Amino acid sequence: MKAQRTLRRSISCAGIGLHSGKKVTLSLKPAPADSSIRFRRCDLGGLEVPATVKHVGGINYATGLARDAVRVDTVEHLLAALVSLGIDNVVVELNSPEVPIMDGSASPFIDLIQQAGVRQLSATRHYLKVLRPLSLSRGDKSIAIYPSDHFRVTYSIAFDHPLLQHQSMTLSITDSSFIEHIAPARTFTFLKEVEMLRQQGLALGGSLENAIVIGDTGVLNGQLRFDDEFVRHKILDVIGDMALVGYPIVGHLVAHRGGHALHTAFAAHVLEDADAWTLVESMDAATADAAAAIPIKDAYRAAN
Ligand SMILES: [Zn+2]
Repeated sequence: MKAQRTLRRSISCAGIGLHSGKKVTLSLKPAPADSSIRFRRCDLGGLEVPATVKHVGGINYATGLARDAVRVDTVEHLLAALVSLGIDNVVVELNSPEVPIMDGSASPFIDLIQQAGVRQLSATRHYLKVLRPLSLSRGDKSIAIYPSDHFRVTYSIAFDHPLLQHQSMTLSITDSSFIEHIAPARTFTFLKEVEMLRQQGLALGGSLENAIVIGDTGVLNGQLRFDDEFVRHKILDVIGDMALVGYPIVGHLVAHRGGHALHTAFAAHVLEDADAWTLVESMDAATADAAAAIPIKDAYRAAN
């Protein structure tokens, strides 16, 4: 059994929203056991929206959450950093509607969490352990999850661009593999899309400081952080989007050409099909132990 975790102390940073272009201060604050990850808008009197699929509200080149009058956009990179470092409970306070994009990766959020430190709580963490495969596809995009004894992600991408015709990667996700191989990978966009995005009022805060921009013949930013930085960023995105199931996942996630819309639809699909998974108290609980975990799942159903 593992204990739930939160941060040892509060910590803040400032940046701009990728799509809104607005300045924003972000604070991460310790939170009690079983309170999960919640976004709080201090510019709206402290109204909150929990980071769950139930509150997905608007997917526009980023994942947004909404509840009543509260919305928070571009939550995925921060969520990926929090869940990969095993932070179960935290309040994310913002004074603007969008999480800062920082350098386009999750590394600045990793630094922030590490500076704050981690504190164990006196409640047991529950993992969502996949018992049978689930899948979802839309056109040529697909995503699936299979039973596995740990959290593993396979992602493949294919774009109609010579730099990006095919990239694929499989990685077992632990805090250290995430920090080393995934967190530094930056978001990317195509130069020919930038103007279209701006006409839609998006990417207003975008620059070469916070996104890889791909022109016809190469990237405009100079050096990539990894030769396959693009597919690594897709793994970062899917970890952040799947965090909206509300539990650390024990299973092998396999996605091809996905995006935020497919990722978040799949997170909802997984939660709905509650016979395909069980909640367990240990990542290596064998499938045979699933029967012992059923009361926990019943408790989950009752609560939702
Ligand atoms: Zn992203």
